Amino acid sequence: MSQRNNFRTGDQTLVREINLSLIMNRLHRHTPISRAGLADMTGLNKSTVSSLVNELIEHRFIHELGVLSSGIGRPSVQLELNPQAGFIVSAEIGVGFVSVLCSNFTADIVWRCREKLSIELGQAAILDRVIALLHTAIEAGKATPQSPTLLGIAIGIPGLIDMNEGKLLFAPNLRWRNVPIRHLMQREFPDVPVFVDNEANMAALGEYFFGAAQDFNEILYLSAGVGLGGAIVRDGQLMRGTTGFAGEFGHMTMDRDGELCNCGNRGCWETQVTQSAVFRAIRQAIGSGAVSSLQPYLDDLTVQLVVDAAKQGDQVAIHTLNRVGHDLGVGIASLVNVLNPDLVLVGGIISLAGEFIMPVIETELNTRALRSSASAVTILPAKHSQDACVMGGVATVYQRVLSQPNTITHGIN
Ligand SMILES: [Zn+2]
Repeated sequence: MSQRNNFRTGDQTLVREINLSLIMNRLHRHTPISRAGLADMTGLNKSTVSSLVNELIEHRFIHELGVLSSGIGRPSVQLELNPQAGFIVSAEIGVGFVSVLCSNFTADIVWRCREKLSIELGQAAILDRVIALLHTAIEAGKATPQSPTLLGIAIGIPGLIDMNEGKLLFAPNLRWRNVPIRHLMQREFPDVPVFVDNEANMAALGEYFFGAAQDFNEILYLSAGVGLGGAIVRDGQLMRGTTGFAGEFGHMTMDRDGELCNCGNRGCWETQVTQSAVFRAIRQAIGSGAVSSLQPYLDDLTVQLVVDAAKQGDQVAIHTLNRVGHDLGVGIASLVNVLNPDLVLVGGIISLAGEFIMPVIETELNTRALRSSASAVTILPAKHSQDACVMGGVATVYQRVLSQPNTITHGIN
């Protein structure tokens, strides 16, 4: 075969892959839809759409729902993504816990587990437990007779990830460095695609595909809990930066002489708006003589306790949460000026305090951001709260299948 023919064959394969992905992505956004509807929406001709659809049906990524009459023209067979195309397993290694779930292809949860796991147990013991839970999740997925194929495993971690190697470089709040997560998982689960990413990146993608960000294109996601994570999603793609570490908003310096951060610097935004900042402020207020119903719980504070106290009118709790809202709002206003997003999503455990922090964030935004950017942005709480990362892991695998259905194990070869 001549070089020219080789090139043309490669070109046609690429075009076919792009068109398969186009069909899958349209079915994600507009479902159910007919073959004719897909042709209108993609600009592909009807015979090409039919051929692509037939291939995707043959490989179980999409299926026919039956005939629907719109009242205009001939009734047509409707298509949707097939929830039984396979199953996805996703895990979050958090600070003090691990969360694992198994879902079908379209993110309906089949099995889940969340365990407290102290970081004092050590890295090896924690990773062993994650692997054991992944095996259990996979068994649960395989027990679903309609879709026994594992499409991928996703692992989210609150740290900097080398995306080429799937290696955790540094997780300040876990105190882990240089852990070859994907290599370890791939050794345990050979022949399965394994995706490793920062937990906020995954969470943002989860909100884009299955949560509060589905109708938005320029999304700033912030997640305040033990740390402050963040991510930017533009047209369904994570903005990663040159070396993959974009989105570390928590380590922007907001007060150059402020509290010491786990990253080693002082006054990072993270030191102002995370749960430990809330607890520290409450202890300080009570230590200075303020009266609060939280006094008996000072050694065991949780965000939920603080929110409950605030709801009952506890002024120390209300003032503290308002203060966090203010500090979040100041940073968000600057980010809105820089990025001009159409959506800011606030997630993480702090979002439990939404009724106390969201109005303050709105006020700060409207006071500090440029009017043209502030008026174009919507602020919402994230949908998946404490499941954000694991749902994002599901979205990570799902996005890979949508973009390259021909590379998945039981896909089109
Ligand atoms: Zn920091």
